[in-house]
Amino acid sequence: MNAPQATLKPPFLPFALPDIGEDEIAEVVSCLRSGWLSTGPRCAQFEKNFAAHLGGGVACVAVNSATAGLHLAVEALGIGPGDEVIVPVHTFTATAEIVRYMGADPVFVDVEPGSLNIDVSKIEAAVTPRTRAIIPVHYAGLACDMAAILEIARRHDLRVIEDAAHALPTTFGGTQVGALESDVTVFSFYVTKTLATGEGGMLVTRDAEIAKRAKVMRLHGINRDVFDRYRAGGNWYYEVIAPGFKYNLTDLAAAIGLHQLRRLDEMHRRREQIAEAY
Ligand SMILES: *Cc1c(COP(=O)(O)O)cnc(C)c1O
Repeated sequence: MNAPQATLKPPFLPFALPDIGEDEIAEVVSCLRSGWLSTGPRCAQFEKNFAAHLGGGVACVAVNSATAGLHLAVEALGIGPGDEVIVPVHTFTATAEIVRYMGADPVFVDVEPGSLNIDVSKIEAAVTPRTRAIIPVHYAGLACDMAAILEIARRHDLRVIEDAAHALPTTFGGTQVGALESDVTVFSFYVTKTLATGEGGMLVTRDAEIAKRAKVMRLHGINRDVFDRYRAGGNWYYEVIAPGFKYNLTDLAAAIGLHQLRRLDEMHRRREQIAEAY
């Protein structure tokens, strides 16, 4: 059967097409043949490879979108009604939306005209006794001044969640975004992002408690994942310890992600060439 033809406008300059190679295609076929389509061995491998790519001993939790990852981050940090979270005025809606999911209030801070990143000099004026966290966005992959943001956070006892939906691969001061000192960093693998799996995301943290909570809450609040229960030597017993979400990444998406991750630098160089041409 042929795929249904979408009725699209004639192509002019297509926006951020995914760069899918033969390895990604072959891996999806292998995944289909394996019979394990949802969260399983390919997700586990993708999380492991992603952590190794970032370095710094971070833990990775694969999710089905960056929105899901950001939601799990504010949930794990215990942000709730009455709390305020500082976000930039100029970003995708998800950055502020997930603050409202928790019943907390986003507080908008202006961006700098040059970088379109949050204006660090305006953050402190927005801090109140209710402020709990800052969510900087590395707009279009240009890193925010994370040293300044982390310093402000330390001074006011705030948590930092980096919205790194555009920021793979990006470095700040020679360190990969994702391996800095923030509480959580979240990447997106949506079709238009620099690593594309269709839908998908990665929550990255160096805090073992946050990683543990996010793993439980990405799958209905169940204290053990399905792969863990069904692999050799496992047993079926589990408990539901909180009303969680359905945010797990499929192995089909992870199959694509494994090879996109391997090709990250190659794809980055290609984008640089195209930018040069413009
Ligand atoms: C795309 C994007 C998101 C959301 O990513 P999804 O994976 O589609 O949920 C969040 N923040 C920013 C800045 C984005 O561009």
